[in-house]
Amino acid sequence: MKFLCTTIALLAIAAGCADDPGEATRSDGASLILTNARVYTLDWGEPGPDGAIAPDALLSDKGWRPDAEAIAIRGGEILFVGSDADAMAFMGDSSRVIDLAGATVIPGLVDSHTHVFGLGALLDQVNLVDIATEEEAVALIVERAKSVPKGEWIVGRGWDEGAWANRYPDKALLTAAVPDHPVFMDSLHSFAGWGNQAALDAIGISAETEVPVGGEMRLGSDGQPSGLFLNQGVELLRGAVPRPSRETLTKQGLLGLRQMAADGYTTVHDAGLDAEAMSILEELEAADGLPIRVYAMLSLRDEDLIRKWIKSGPDKDADSMLVTRTVKAYYDGALGSRGARLLYDYADRPGHRGISGDEYGFNEVLNAEAMKAGFQIAIHAIGDAGNREAIDILESVFQEDPSTAGNRHRIEHAQVISPEDLPRLGQLGIIASMEPPHAMEDKAWAEERLGPERILGAYAWRSLREAGTHLTFNSDNPGSDHSIFYGLHSAITRQDKNRQPEGGWYAGQKMTADEAVRAYTTWSAYASFREDKTGVIEAGRWADLTVMDVDPFVLAEQGPGDILGGRIVMTVVNGKVVYEK
Ligand SMILES: [Zn+2]
Repeated sequence: MKFLCTTIALLAIAAGCADDPGEATRSDGASLILTNARVYTLDWGEPGPDGAIAPDALLSDKGWRPDAEAIAIRGGEILFVGSDADAMAFMGDSSRVIDLAGATVIPGLVDSHTHVFGLGALLDQVNLVDIATEEEAVALIVERAKSVPKGEWIVGRGWDEGAWANRYPDKALLTAAVPDHPVFMDSLHSFAGWGNQAALDAIGISAETEVPVGGEMRLGSDGQPSGLFLNQGVELLRGAVPRPSRETLTKQGLLGLRQMAADGYTTVHDAGLDAEAMSILEELEAADGLPIRVYAMLSLRDEDLIRKWIKSGPDKDADSMLVTRTVKAYYDGALGSRGARLLYDYADRPGHRGISGDEYGFNEVLNAEAMKAGFQIAIHAIGDAGNREAIDILESVFQEDPSTAGNRHRIEHAQVISPEDLPRLGQLGIIASMEPPHAMEDKAWAEERLGPERILGAYAWRSLREAGTHLTFNSDNPGSDHSIFYGLHSAITRQDKNRQPEGGWYAGQKMTADEAVRAYTTWSAYASFREDKTGVIEAGRWADLTVMDVDPFVLAEQGPGDILGGRIVMTVVNGKVVYEK
């Protein structure tokens, strides 16, 4: 099909009867031509709800094969998709031609639920992940202190409170090595925190300080705080670290965005921005400083910000690098910590059902006002009761004001769905926005929380598709690793990074490669109202592309474990190469 279009286009140019006669001359040829690639355009029919491949998809007798080998781009737009030879006809005076040496090209990846400032903060912190000893950790902090003005906080995280449990660090070595900066080092799972004397002094912590319920402050042999805090006690330090300056936040936002670009993403949907983060993104956009596209979700928790946007209305200019038409709401807690709201008691804690709604700080009135002002709502819901209540709330606003129903509202996570509610998402046009890696990370304890029946409606991608639900996939970083290879592998195999369990966890919920790739591209485009602009590689669409060194379509059939070893080769946003290996 592609090749036929190509031929027609070339004939048209040759005959001088293209849309703009004589346009395809050397001076206005392509700005970028990618050749020698395995291009999967996704320009074929959607897979069926059961995963059945569309009849017009390109398959050989051995399975998937790419449907083009070259792409020509001018400015921010795809000019042509097809064969190498035909693409070279778009060669102009200033064309850059890149031989991709057999790499795979798919539509630009979208991570439809991220926290880029959180990711940037993590990248900006002292990273103690996989550090074995207190001495090594202190050496890294000393190194960082050299570039931080005296008196400013140094924050880090990642030391393993499990592995270090028999030899917790204290303030002694750290205070001697770093006397002039308050230091707070959070642990890998946030159940322990470690600080120096300057931190204790800055906060005013002494042996008399009251420790929050459920927490512990260790004391040294001198009866003074040792610098080590456990459980809720960590809040004494964590809660006291001052919010970074605007300059630091800007740096961290950019660090996060650039990391996503390097990891193949052309767009992120940022799930919950406050007024300051929004104004930083607006400033970056105005200065043409956004490396990738940002689809912003305004935090419902920032009431002033929401009221301001309700007044001005959503920004629906799909083409701008920063688009703001979504409000992120928070409905219930998480399953691991038993905060998610369940219809019946937790299987591993009788009498307990989690919290939701008002109790969780959800402002239903403001949410309804935002919906009526035309905003898309992306509402965090995890438990089966949390999801049911969230659907009920959206539905009641649809009934009150039918104009709100078409705004492609989303449930973020949609983690546990009661069988009775499964059909409702599709019927109401609500998108399920889900994280394949969460299933792989939660499988260790999810069934203990839910029991053998409710688990069947958890992380139930296939059941949701079969019930007619639109899906979009994402990472919810930095809580989970946003590597697309991890995401695709989780979606396609239902196996973790160690390839466990054999055959996949609740394997009936697996996605095919076609579905998994679409959930990070085509379907994410739909979730942001941009399915006509991106999500498929086709002439006339945005030149947003991701290039990788593995072919997930072929590997899904021939060796899905190898998807985990994939690397991003290049990221193209709006026709610009924003990352190149
Ligand atoms: Zn999130």
